[in-house]
Amino acid sequence: MKVIDNIAELRMTLFEERRKNIKVGLVPTMGALHGGHLNLIEQSTKQNELTVCSIFVNPAQFNNPEDLNNYPRRLQEDIDLLSNTGCDIVFIPDVEEVYPSMDVLKISFGKLENVLEGEFRPDHFSGVGIVVSKLFNIVTPNTAYFGQKDLQQVAIIKKLVRDLNFDTTVVVVPTVRELSGLAMSSRNLRLSDEGKECALNLYEGLRKVKSSVLGGMEVKQALVNARKALEDIGDFDLEYLEVVNSLTMESVTGLSVANEVSVCGAAYVEKVRIIDNIYIT
Ligand code: AMP
Repeated sequence: MKVIDNIAELRMTLFEERRKNIKVGLVPTMGALHGGHLNLIEQSTKQNELTVCSIFVNPAQFNNPEDLNNYPRRLQEDIDLLSNTGCDIVFIPDVEEVYPSMDVLKISFGKLENVLEGEFRPDHFSGVGIVVSKLFNIVTPNTAYFGQKDLQQVAIIKKLVRDLNFDTTVVVVPTVRELSGLAMSSRNLRLSDEGKECALNLYEGLRKVKSSVLGGMEVKQALVNARKALEDIGDFDLEYLEVVNSLTMESVTGLSVANEVSVCGAAYVEKVRIIDNIYIT
């Protein structure tokens, strides 16, 4: 596995590789890799002759400087982990390489960016859109892999690809969970064992909403009940819990055969922000 830290070398390497007429898969990450990331890598290595994994903690997508500072960084462990997968290239640029000037443009995603994550993290999706556009321009992957864990991010990336005509297919990989059910996340490294147990309440809340709605309860009522139960838990600070159309992220009041519907939530546990979602239909 090649470890590359600059754009010119990555471009040159890929240029040489592409002469072999191969398919290239890209897995963008922020590192502190876990089973969820490895699942994306596995999908990519199955479907492409060459897989690039990028590791870059993207300052442009953090609206909170403390969150950026505290984001787990474990570069050597990540490289060791990746070298046991079929990953061919790991791209680990520093901030100056990606942003020679921090005076970067902004991307607006309209309605999509004003709800859920977008409402609580101003400019987050602009930062995601910019870094993913940069990676797509540098790597020109045939396929890029993203996790369902960040469902709204998937909607954002699909819009980006459609609206900017990127010649890249987006593949969405299901959320990988711990045995307990807790969605794997790099941020879980900052939780104590008790914190992890407490964080599991979010997943349980999502499942409760799903079973209530599928059992015939009105969406509004199911949300009221689940929010109340979550708000009563000590050390668990619910940010949002919503039932949405999985493609537009707009709130829905009921199920419809035409639309995929999900329940999404975010909360703070031990000052760590956790998010999760599950499909209802
Ligand atoms: P991150 O490093 O958190 O930015 O995540 C990089 C990619 O891995 C994103 O596409 C995430 O949606 C995906 N991902 C993160 N956690 C999981 C998980 N538990 N299961 C599946 N994919 C995940």
